[in-house]
Amino acid sequence: MLTDLTIAQASEGLRKKEFSAVELTKAHTDAVETLNGRINAYITVTSDLALEAAKKADAQLVSGDAPALTGIPLGIKDLFCTNGVRTTAASKIIGNFVPPYESTVTAKLLENGAIFLGKTNLDEFAMGSANLTSAFGGVENPWHRKGDPSVMVPGGSSGGSAAAVAAHIAMGATGTDTGGSIRQPAAYCGIVGLKPTYGRCSRWGTIAFASSLDQAGPMTRTVEDAAIMLTAMAGHDPKDSTCADIAVPDYRAACGRSLKGLRVGIPAEYRAPGMSEEILAVWQKGIDLLREAGCEIVDVSLPHTKYGLATYYIIAPAECSSNLARYDGVRFGERAEGATSLDDLYEKTRHNGFGEEVRRRILMGTYVLSAGYYDAYYLKAQKVRTLIQRDFTHAFEKVDVLLTPTAPTAAFARDEKPEDPVQMYLNDIFTVPASMAGQPAMSVPVALDSKGLPLGLQLIGKHFDEETIIAVGSALEKAAGFTARPDLRAGVSA
Ligand code: GLN
Repeated sequence: MLTDLTIAQASEGLRKKEFSAVELTKAHTDAVETLNGRINAYITVTSDLALEAAKKADAQLVSGDAPALTGIPLGIKDLFCTNGVRTTAASKIIGNFVPPYESTVTAKLLENGAIFLGKTNLDEFAMGSANLTSAFGGVENPWHRKGDPSVMVPGGSSGGSAAAVAAHIAMGATGTDTGGSIRQPAAYCGIVGLKPTYGRCSRWGTIAFASSLDQAGPMTRTVEDAAIMLTAMAGHDPKDSTCADIAVPDYRAACGRSLKGLRVGIPAEYRAPGMSEEILAVWQKGIDLLREAGCEIVDVSLPHTKYGLATYYIIAPAECSSNLARYDGVRFGERAEGATSLDDLYEKTRHNGFGEEVRRRILMGTYVLSAGYYDAYYLKAQKVRTLIQRDFTHAFEKVDVLLTPTAPTAAFARDEKPEDPVQMYLNDIFTVPASMAGQPAMSVPVALDSKGLPLGLQLIGKHFDEETIIAVGSALEKAAGFTARPDLRAGVSA
């Protein structure tokens, strides 16, 4: 089936005229139609636009002047503004927003010939780890536990993108990662998720959550596909002052590179107390596979890891409270009816428009930034962030890349969602430190657990050294031989 292909295979097939871009796109729009009602991976489906674009792609393929992603159907996280196509951030407050401009990342993908199937679901404003806070309903993970029909969460916040790729209703998708939102859902859904170095991809036109952490990246079924997508997404943008002016290599060339003599660090602090034996076993398996592939395994220490979550949950809400101040019912989005004063308009609009988790973050952020608490919380957190960054700098003096688990557990069932929000925040324990330090990091699916759910391992690299994590990731992927697929019949486990 055409939906079985990887991006690399499909792009070759298109060039050899084995099938057309219209056929490839139609196979995907049909699959979206069949499965999206249940999985809810897409908030907005744009099949007609996709088929129109596919006709143009076919013409371009005939002309022979077709860039790398010509005719490849992708899902776009509904946090990237798309010109003329509704962009909601999964929030009621901008539930009807149609941007008059295109984000830099999606513009680059379009220039590269990609076709957009629609806008994928997420946690509201990208805040969450289970895709349960979307104003457009939760996303279903295509995976189930063996013999158990319970609906599993896909992880968050890029849960719609992860589920779409895992269910083969997109060949790849964009995600954004602030504290783990590409890597954790990738791990929960058995796919590859790459968060580039902070500054590698432009943030322009991507709805902001926490600007010093937000970073766009690819979510795909193979490391090679992630490399192909990243090459198209990355690059300097004068419209984002934090976007680095560093040349973009052909990341695909890093796949299959020899790992001889490469030093892989194993951080002691990631052996968190109470971690499942199965995660520890998968981690050990990854270590063994990389050693066999010629790497030297080195024990390292990242002593401030234990402060990562606490620091993140001060800095991210602080920045979100500032970024989300713009949704006030005056300039953007929905406006509450019947307000009696300006303050009343702000209060009603923001109360009605934002969900509970977003309101919680705004409250926390406003609190830690307020006079009297700023020094004790925000300033302190900034100092601790520097210590976390230094840990990585020191570790990378000794090693080329770090290997850790991506998440402390496999996906959990929707009805097992922790009541305590802090419990939910623990999902990010292994992904947040790399975000705080701006390091590139990737989750690669490695095995299924005893219940039949996918588990991922995380590779963390030096700043702007995505190539090494791609090289190691592609070797790990090959050695682990993860070929399992979710059974897409409703409620049936693999
Ligand atoms: N789960 C984390 C949070 O809720 C990370 C979200 C993200 O990376 N966008 O903040």
